[in-house]
Amino acid sequence: MSKFVNEVNSTKQYLMINGEKVETEKYAPLYSPYSGKEIAQIAMADREQTLQAIAAAYKARDIMATMPAYQRAEILENVVTILKQKADEAADIIAREAAKPIMFAKAEVARTIETYKFAAEEAKRIHGETIPFDAAAGGVNRIGYTLREPIGVIGAITPFNFPMNLVAHKVGPAIAAGNTIVLKPASQTPLSALFIAEIFEEAGLPAGVLNVVTGPGGIVGDAIVEDDRVSMVTFTGSPGVGIGIRNKAGLKKTTLELGSNSALIIDKDIDVGQIIDRCIMGAFSNQGQVCISLQRVYAHEDVYEEFVAKFTEAAKKLKIGDPLDPDTYISALISKGEAERVLGWIEETKGSNATIAAGGKLQDGVLEPTIVRDADHSLNISCQEAFAPVVVVNKVSSVKEAVEQVNDSRFGLQAGIYTNNVKNALYASKQLHVGGVIINDVPTYRVDQMPYGGVKESGTGREGIKYAVEEMTEMKLVVWNQS
Ligand code: NAP
Repeated sequence: MSKFVNEVNSTKQYLMINGEKVETEKYAPLYSPYSGKEIAQIAMADREQTLQAIAAAYKARDIMATMPAYQRAEILENVVTILKQKADEAADIIAREAAKPIMFAKAEVARTIETYKFAAEEAKRIHGETIPFDAAAGGVNRIGYTLREPIGVIGAITPFNFPMNLVAHKVGPAIAAGNTIVLKPASQTPLSALFIAEIFEEAGLPAGVLNVVTGPGGIVGDAIVEDDRVSMVTFTGSPGVGIGIRNKAGLKKTTLELGSNSALIIDKDIDVGQIIDRCIMGAFSNQGQVCISLQRVYAHEDVYEEFVAKFTEAAKKLKIGDPLDPDTYISALISKGEAERVLGWIEETKGSNATIAAGGKLQDGVLEPTIVRDADHSLNISCQEAFAPVVVVNKVSSVKEAVEQVNDSRFGLQAGIYTNNVKNALYASKQLHVGGVIINDVPTYRVDQMPYGGVKESGTGREGIKYAVEEMTEMKLVVWNQS
C-alpha cells in the first residue's frame, strides 16, 4: 500500500502524485554510471500507483483548462527564475545520474531554462484563425473561427540522455497549453525529473497537474499508454520502444521522437581546419548519446585525408574521466552493457575494409572517442544508431553521391552539409530525406524553439515549443449562422 510522507531523506526518492510524495513497496538502487556507487533509492511504482497518478491528472484537467494564459505563463516564468537560482545544483544532478560531463550538464541546464522561457512566452499566443466561409456558396452569411483547446491528460515518457531538457520539452508546452501530465522518466535518470517537479510546486503549479511516476518502463509505460483517460502520449526514446507504444496507443495522439545515425557531408571547397571543433562537439559531446549525434561523415575525396588527419588528432586530445571534473569531455556510457554493445560493433569492423583511426577501446571503463574510416554501410556501426562516441568517416566523389549515402538509412532526423557552393546546398536541402537540414554546421545543431523531429524510423510529430503546443491542443471549429 502506498502511504503519504512529508519528510524526504537525501537518498530516498518518492513518486509525486497529486502534489504528494508517495511511497512504494519496492525501491531500487540508482548507481552512478561512472563510479558505480549508489546515489539514491528510487521508488518503483506498480500499475495501481500509475493509475492513481493518471486519476490525479484527470481530476486536475479542469483546473488547467480554465486557468488563464497569463497565469500559466506566470508559473512557467517562476520555474525559469527558480531554476536559474538552482542551476548549479541542477547540473550536479545531471552529471551524477547520467555521467554527463559537468560542462555539458551546465549547458543542458542553460537550455532547459530557455525551454521553459519559450514555454512561458508561447502560453500567451495560443490562438486559432478566422475562416473565409463565404468562399463556398454554402458558406454565405456564416462566420467562423478555430480555437485551440487543451487535449487533457498527457503521458510523457522520457529518455536518459537529456534528463532535464527533454522533460522540459514535454512538460513546458503541456502546461503552456493548459494540460495535465503523468511523467515517466528514464529509470537511470529519475532525479532530474523529480527535481523539476519540486520546482514546479514551488512555482505555484496546482497539485495533480504534474505527476511523476518512477518505475519499470514496461509496467508504468504500459499503464500510461493503455489508459483511456490519457489523451496523448509524447515519447522520446529508442525506435523499438516507440513503435511498441504506437501499436498500443490506439486512437491516442502520439508524438514519437526516436533515434538516428545522423550524417554530415563535407564538400570539396571547405577549409576543414575550420570545422573540426564543431565535428568534435557533434560526434563526442555527451559521449555521443545524442539523438542527432554525428555518426557518419561523407567527405569529398579532395579533403578526405586532411579531414581524417585533423579530426583524429583533435579526438585524441579529448580528456576522458570523471563527469564532475570541469575539464572532462568524455565520461562513461550510461551502462556497462552499452559499452559492451559498442565494443562488439567496433570489433565487427576488424573483419572488413574499415580502419580504426582513433580510439576503439576502454580507458578506465570509459569508451575512447572512436573514429572508423572507410566503413562499409552494412556494418552495425554505420547502419544502426551507435549512441556512443563513435563516428565513421567515408570518402565520396560528389555531393550527389554523399546525399545518396546519407539517405541510405532507416532513420531521418537531421543531416548537415558544409559547402560554399549554393547549388550544392540547395540540392542537399531538397534531396535529403530528414526532418531538418543544417547548412554549414553539424547535424547535431539544435536550439529549443525550432521545429524538431524526424521522418522514417526517427519518429512522427514535432517538438520545439510552438510545434509541441500544436500537437498538444485540439482544434475546434465554431461557425455562426448570421441569417
Ligand atoms: P528507451 O530505452 O527507449 O527508453 C525511453 C523511455 O521509455 C524510458 O523512460 C523507458 O523507461 C521507457 N520505456 C521502456 N520500455 C517501455 C515500454 N514498454 N513502454 C513505455 N515506455 C517504456 O531509450 P533511452 O535508452 O532512454 O534513450 C535513448 C534513445 O532515445 C535513443 O534511441 C535516442 O536516439 C533517442 N532519443 C531521441 C530524441 C529525439 O528527440 N528524437 C532525443 C533523445 C533521445 P526505463 O528507463 O524504465 O526502461
